[in-house]
Amino acid sequence: MSAADPPCIFCRIVAGTLPSTQVYADDHVIAIQDLNPQAPVHVLVLPRQHVVGIASEEAEDGALLSHLVSVANRIARERQIADGGYRLVINQGANGGQTVAHLHLHVLGGRRMQWPPG
Ligand code: AMP
Ligand code: ZN
Repeated sequence: MSAADPPCIFCRIVAGTLPSTQVYADDHVIAIQDLNPQAPVHVLVLPRQHVVGIASEEAEDGALLSHLVSVANRIARERQIADGGYRLVINQGANGGQTVAHLHLHVLGGRRMQWPPG
């Protein structure tokens, strides 16, 4: 990490100073393979802008949220899990299981997901 690097790991991934396997990118969001996949398909969709979580004011921008979901659905179609079904997850805060404080949508699929989640 250089002195100019942002402290947030997902901001560093967006900036390209931390490597990732990118599966989609546009002007507003990127999508990357999760480093520790919990299902055969496990992709994270995140805004380029640093937004802490779904409880942040910026996350209530309907355009950003609908774009995150639309990119997630597109990835599900591309990875051929759309017909069988898949799960979109946003963890918020410590009790929600959020470990990276930069908003991201998990796209999980390729196996039967369990309910209730842990
Ligand atoms: P959450 O617990 O909802 O905040 O999710 C954070 C996710 O980021 C976890 O599934 C981690 O495996 C994943 N993760 C952490 N660091 C990286 C990284 N450098 N590249 C890709 N995924 C990561
Ligand atoms: Zn960030």
